Amino acid sequence: MHTFEFMRPKDSAAAIATAAQSKTAQQGADVRFMGGGTTLIDLMKLNVETPARVLDINRLPFDKIEIMPDGGLKIGATVRNSDLAYHAKVQRDYSVLSQALLQGASAQIRNMATVAGNLLQRTRCVYFRDTAMPCNKREPGTGCPAITGHNRTLAILGTSDHCIATNPSDMCIAMAALEATIHIQGPKGTRAVAFGDFHLLPGNTPQRETVLEPGDLITHVTLPPPIAGSKQHYLKLRDRASYEFALASAAVVLTIAGGNVRRARIALGGVGTKPWRSPEAEAALIGRPTNDATFRQAAEAALQGAKPQSENKFKVELAKRCLTHALRTAAAS
Ligand SMILES: Cc1cc2nc3c(=O)[nH]c(=O)nc-3n(C[C@H](O)[C@H](O)[C@H](O)COP(=O)(O)OP(=O)(O)OC[C@H]3O[C@@H](n4cnc5c(N)ncnc54)[C@H](O)[C@@H]3O)c2cc1C
Ligand code: SF4
Repeated sequence: MHTFEFMRPKDSAAAIATAAQSKTAQQGADVRFMGGGTTLIDLMKLNVETPARVLDINRLPFDKIEIMPDGGLKIGATVRNSDLAYHAKVQRDYSVLSQALLQGASAQIRNMATVAGNLLQRTRCVYFRDTAMPCNKREPGTGCPAITGHNRTLAILGTSDHCIATNPSDMCIAMAALEATIHIQGPKGTRAVAFGDFHLLPGNTPQRETVLEPGDLITHVTLPPPIAGSKQHYLKLRDRASYEFALASAAVVLTIAGGNVRRARIALGGVGTKPWRSPEAEAALIGRPTNDATFRQAAEAALQGAKPQSENKFKVELAKRCLTHALRTAAAS
């Protein structure tokens, strides 16, 4: 691993001022914040990330989960994934988030991993993690060997000719369905970004994954007030039962009245280049009876734009079955 300066900024202003000196907040950043370090240090050991300065933000006051006056939830950036998953209000009112978190990584990693770090975890594409290989995301303009190579676990939605990497997060899929908002403090002040606008499609700039600019510090995430009587479920399908990333996953938040779907929020994981909210599936559910035919139609709508690669055609049907089963489970709960 390369040498770097390790710093513990005393407050947010100092952290932001130091990070603002970086040329980018994306791949290749020379200043990086560190939460749990489970993504960052991992990639630094592989020389995929080579920051000159690492700013440990764990002393900053962002480790609280608070209930807001409107009944929503404010989740600090350095709240550990485990603490969030086991929080009583999350388990009661945002159970899809608790379920998603508890199906991610291992207990040890969840105890270290922070909310902001999870939002910014990187793809597990094997070429991205191997500096002996070309990769447009790591070194723009070098090519994408995954398109003709090993792509079984990679994306089928939101891909481009430049990158087909999957966003690997479980937490983000639940947050997409819950319509979270990400709060950022940067050199120009504070701003709030709707969850769906935070991650970017790869297009022809796959090295650019989010809207973050140099110096931008995620301070917290908010969840809107819970929807009374909503039925929620997160289903994750993977190669082994634990400690494995999703091949396909589905986060479902449904409101049902008189046997029909009144409100639906649907997001898919393991298949998209970003956490994949599906307005098509939501539209296919509204006003429809809660039966298998409706659920399958929603799944068909969600995967309509899928573009499988040479090794991952199976993901199209897997994702459809994943969403159908998640909807069935939520409706029956
Ligand atoms: C073996 C293994 C298995 C895993 N399995 C899964 C899985 O099944 N499902 C899943 O969802 N995840 C999985 N993960 C990923 C894990 O969830 C992430 O590594 C973790 O959530 C990252 O959080 P962190 O706090 O450690 O991030 P860090 O490594 O500290 O940071 C990650 C990135 O976020 C930036 N950052 C951190 N905090 C801030 C902030 N406040 N503002 C701006 N930028 C910030 C850092 O600069 C860095 O670029 C796995 C990880 C490992 C190592
Ligand atoms: S899919 Fe993306 S991350 Fe993987 S090799 Fe291609 S450009 Fe790199």
